[in-house]
Parts: sequence; C-alpha cells; structure tokens
Amino acid sequence: AKDLGRGMTIDFDDSFDDDALQQSELESQLRATLLNDGMSVMFQPLIDAQSGAVTGVEALARWRKEAGTAISPDVFIPLAERAGMIDLLGMQVLRTSLHAATAWPRLSLGVNVSPLQLKNPRFVSQVQEAIKAADFDPRRLTVEVTEGVLISNPEQARRAIDGLKKIGVKVALDDFGSGYASIGSLRRFGFDRIKVDRSLVTALDLDHNAGAVLQATVALANALQIPVTAEGIETEQQATAVRLSGCDELQGYLFSRPVSADAVTALYCEAESG
Ligand code: C2E
Ligand code: CA
Ligand code: CA
Ligand code: CA
Repeated sequence: AKDLGRGMTIDFDDSFDDDALQQSELESQLRATLLNDGMSVMFQPLIDAQSGAVTGVEALARWRKEAGTAISPDVFIPLAERAGMIDLLGMQVLRTSLHAATAWPRLSLGVNVSPLQLKNPRFVSQVQEAIKAADFDPRRLTVEVTEGVLISNPEQARRAIDGLKKIGVKVALDDFGSGYASIGSLRRFGFDRIKVDRSLVTALDLDHNAGAVLQATVALANALQIPVTAEGIETEQQATAVRLSGCDELQGYLFSRPVSADAVTALYCEAESG
C-alpha cells in the first residue's frame, strides 16, 4: 500500500504487476538467447526392446539463462508459443540436432515440433532446407507431434504431415494415451510410430488394470502395423511389463537421462568399436 499522507492509502495488486513483469522479462531473455543462436539441445537414447542396443535419440531443448539458471521446457516452450518465437526455436533445435546427429550415422533422430509450427505454410520447406544444409538422410529423422493439433486443426495438420512424409521424413504421434487421440486418427494421419505417454507407464505401479490398458493400446497400434515406443521407463519392473506389452522401443531414465551430444558420440563410438 502506498501512503498518500493524511492517513490515505491506495492498495496495489503487486502480485499481478510482478508476474506480468517477470513474464515479459523472461520473454525478452528468451528472445535474446534465440537471436544469439543460444538454445542448446540434449539427446535421450532410444533403446531397442529386444537387443537393448541404442537405436536412436530424441532431441530435447535446453535453456540456461545467463545467470546459469535452467528453465524447464514446460515453461519456455509455451512461452515461445505465446510470444510468436516457436518457429525460430523449433528450427534452431532442428538445425543443431541435425548437425550433431551427422556424427551418428546409424542412429535415428527424433525432434519435437509444436502444433503451431505445423500451421506455418513454410514449415515443410524449411525442414527440407535444414536437412539439405546438413546433408542428412531424411529417413533418419522422425518429427514428433502431439495430438492437440489433430483435433484443433486437422486439415493443416494433415497437409504438414503429408508434406513431411513426401520428403522422406517420418512422423510420430507423441504422448499417446494422455488425451483424446483415437485409433481412427492414427489411421487417417498415417503415423510411422506412436510414443505412449509416460503416464501409462507410471500407472503400471499404481493400478492393476494399467498393464491391460497398455497391452490393448499397443495391440491396436500393432494391428495397424504402427510400431510403439514407451516413454518414461524408470524401473526394471516397468521395462519388463512394457516389453511384454509388445513395444519395440524403450525410453527413460532407467536406460539414460538426456545427455550432451559429446556423450552420445562417446556412446556411439564405444558401440561401433565393441
Ligand atoms: P516429451 O516430448 O514427451 O519428452 C519427454 C520428456 O520426458 C522430457 O522432458 C524427458 O527429459 C522426460 N523423461 C524422459 N525419460 C523420463 C523418465 O524416465 N522419467 C521422467 N520423469 N521423465 C522422463 P523435458 O526435456 O523436460 O521436456 C518436456 C517437454 O517439453 C517434452 O515432452 C516436449 O513436449 C517439450 N519439448 C522439449 N524440447 C522441445 C522442442 O525442441 N520443441 C518442442 N516443441 N517441444 C519440446
Ligand atoms: Ca517427444
Ligand atoms: Ca512424449
Ligand atoms: Ca510430454
């Protein structure tokens, strides 16, 4: 409250102003980072369910502010979407990832894409340019999309997905089982892979029906000949249940956290020489 003298005060709702100020500050810091090409990327290994070998990696954006504070993607991705910076962020992550992944010619590369990027009519040609510039085999790239866009903007989504497939890029449906995507949409959009959401894996520990739900989900996908990755595997018990359900690819802290490009290169060289 501000003292105006003679006992009169005015109350300000400070918390609102502080929030708005913090948001716009964070936004300009993010903009500065992107303009400096300063977004970094970590890579989480994808594991073949049968052999246990690393078959690919998923690229995950990482933002460290100048003071060293790490901001979660769950914060800065929505911020970039609201502030009109997601195209820039997404393409930066893609270029960095393609560049790094040229050192791992036998691994696939998964890159996340925001539903808003699919709305950009230039998206597919931008992806194609980035692939060309990195001299990358498009068949090694999988673009991961979440189901939101399939419901809110099915026509735009279909155009972008068809375009990606035409240039040889694979498309995965991310976070499957967390929302509303139906088996029907799997057929219509022609996904090359499904990534089952971590919540279905976590449920294995809590709910004795969860195993059956997971098995039914994977069986449906397999009936459509779509391979399935399970995310967020943290324990051996989860890995066993997920293998039994018929997933062909595993991802989670049990195998590896997201690591630097250099760490992937070390892993890769070890596997090649061993
Ligand atoms: P996502 O695409 O579902 O990525 C998987 C998230 O789960 C990652 O979180 C990863 O670090 C985390 N994770 C992997 N294994 C485990 C596990 O065993 N246990 C637990 N608790 N978590 C695990 P991260 O890196 O914080 O990313 C969060 C989300 O932010 C991503 O979810 C994705 O939706 C989004 N995101 C990240 N990078 C990008 C990007 O470059 N572009 C876009 N559009 N979105 C991104
Ligand atoms: Ca993903
Ligand atoms: Ca996911
Ligand atoms: Ca997620």
